[in-house]
Amino acid sequence: MQQPQQQAASSSSGRKPQDSGTLTREDFDGGPVSIDEIEPGLFLGNLTAATHMETLRSFKISHILTLDSVPLPQHILEASFLTTKYIQIADMPREDILQHLEGCVEFISSALEQQGNVLVHCYFGVSRSSSTVIAYMMKRHNLDFVPAYEMVKAKRRFVQPNAGFVTQLKLFRRMGCRIDPGCQRYKTHRLRLAGEQMRKAKILPQSFHNVVRPDPDITRENPEPIVFRCRRCRRILASKSNVLEHKPRDRPAQEAPSASAVAKEAQGEAKSEPRMLEQLAERIRQSSLGSPGHETGPSYCRSILFIEPIAWMHRIMLNTQGRLHCPKCEQKLGNYSWINACKCPCGETMTPAFYLIPSKVELSKAVQNVQTTV
Ligand SMILES: [Zn+2]
Ligand SMILES: [Zn+2]
Repeated sequence: MQQPQQQAASSSSGRKPQDSGTLTREDFDGGPVSIDEIEPGLFLGNLTAATHMETLRSFKISHILTLDSVPLPQHILEASFLTTKYIQIADMPREDILQHLEGCVEFISSALEQQGNVLVHCYFGVSRSSSTVIAYMMKRHNLDFVPAYEMVKAKRRFVQPNAGFVTQLKLFRRMGCRIDPGCQRYKTHRLRLAGEQMRKAKILPQSFHNVVRPDPDITRENPEPIVFRCRRCRRILASKSNVLEHKPRDRPAQEAPSASAVAKEAQGEAKSEPRMLEQLAERIRQSSLGSPGHETGPSYCRSILFIEPIAWMHRIMLNTQGRLHCPKCEQKLGNYSWINACKCPCGETMTPAFYLIPSKVELSKAVQNVQTTV
């Protein structure tokens, strides 16, 4: 397509992506107009591009998606030829961009379906907006993060999502380019954000109340067959889906056995080579099976039972840390902390952490025992 002259300005500005972290709005303006077409109709650019009427007209922009700390000026928002969407977000690794990705991808898709031209922008067009365009490319072309990133980077050399956004984009992809509330990594992502809120406010904000899960002893809809009960009074404490599984740190099952581990095995029992290879293949097969949370296996650590916060846990929305007692018999079951890391004996740490001591609970598979507790 015809490239208006602003394109040249983009390249000549020569701002390196890594510079964006040190620049602030007060120090600089958004620089010269910078805009690149990533796919037909999909543009990625900076704030200057989004506020420059001539640029918007020359690229026939019909939709603008803004990811910035402030909205676009009124005269742009009110332009009759534009449909706009604004997401308030800062370019910080801890910002939750994940919660916005589905809606943003939907906005881009819908604009393109209407044969519109959509401009996605932030301040420099480096991190927030590029993350959003990468999310769109992952969904549209069924791509993993790296190839999607490379496709976008090939069209705009400035793109550089911050490290936190990269992690969230990978999680978005892992969940099938949507939010899957049952995904364990998503649960820990939300818990981490909730923990940061607790650290700041000392009370759990309303928007995070849903990280505290319903009490499985009271829930009657679709009770799960596998539950953990208080060993003393048998009250149900957690369903299997409440458990945040982890692999033992000292024996990571995700990795293929190392050469030295294989050598050790060989020394140990002088196993025949075919048998060793068989075992090795089996271990690799097991570690590549399914996603965490859908798999029961000996590979998960049971030294400590990390679980989601659950409604029976007393006053957890009001305290940053404390003990967990059985709501029926008062037995001490474990501890929690929204703000401090908790270390499992295997070496794995979790923050926030809500955990039960395995000797205080028992695994039970009797679904018929689920009953209402008054
Ligand atoms: Zn009890
Ligand atoms: Zn452990």
